[in-house]
Amino acid sequence: MVMTEVLEKLKTLQDILAQKNKVETAINDAPKLLSTQEELLARLKKGYIEKNELYEKTRHNLTTLKMELFDAEGAREKAEKAMDTITTQREYEALDKEIREAGEREQTVRKEIQKEDRTFQELKEDLKREEALIAQQEEELNERKVKLSEEIEAMNKELNDLKEAEEAVSPGLNPETKFKLERIIKSKQGIGIVAIHGNVCTGCHMILPAQFANEVRVGDKIVYCPYCSRILFYLESADGEDVFFNEEDAGSLADLDDFMDDEEGDGEDADDDSDLDDDKMDYED
Ligand SMILES: [Zn+2]
Repeated sequence: MVMTEVLEKLKTLQDILAQKNKVETAINDAPKLLSTQEELLARLKKGYIEKNELYEKTRHNLTTLKMELFDAEGAREKAEKAMDTITTQREYEALDKEIREAGEREQTVRKEIQKEDRTFQELKEDLKREEALIAQQEEELNERKVKLSEEIEAMNKELNDLKEAEEAVSPGLNPETKFKLERIIKSKQGIGIVAIHGNVCTGCHMILPAQFANEVRVGDKIVYCPYCSRILFYLESADGEDVFFNEEDAGSLADLDDFMDDEEGDGEDADDDSDLDDDKMDYED
């Protein structure tokens, strides 16, 4: 196979592999999308259970206090009735003290009941609100789960398509070259094959030795950038002139911004194919 054809295949493969990596990562990360919401729900439920315990405790306290109030009332009423039957000053004083003490106890218990009842009502309201919130969160989470599983299914389908496309483009490629490209794509954010401009790698913007750049230009074998390990191909510059840099001229690399943009973008532009055909003719002449 001609080298230009191999390079074209590698570029196609790069797009497939980069997309495959993206889809695989998305599939792996998918469950994490729910974890925040799942944690929130678990926290809400835990809080609800704790609050409910407090609610039950408060309810129990109220019952106890009401019984105490009943006792105090009973004691006071009994002493008040006994007042009708006393005969001595001493009995009077004893009963009077009993009535006073029971009355005070009643007052204290009533206050406590009021306080506890306020807490009880607040807790009751809180629980009602939290219950609604939990139900709402549960519903949202379930909806998201359904949606996410649909998304995962679609992604798995895309992954299968990509694998098929990968198999379709692979024949004729050296398995070692393919393996290297796969590895570079994983470590270099999806870009494993880049053009050189003059003697500059547009992947890492390092100046390559002139002889090295020449090998890329000749294009009779796969050449890897010695700095970023990407596969290199020759692409004639837009103005038809290649700019060669000496290693000392690194300062003027800023002029290459146009080519650096290419790295940030989606890879090659639509002109690449025709450019490459031109190249081929260039050195076939
Ligand atoms: Zn490089």
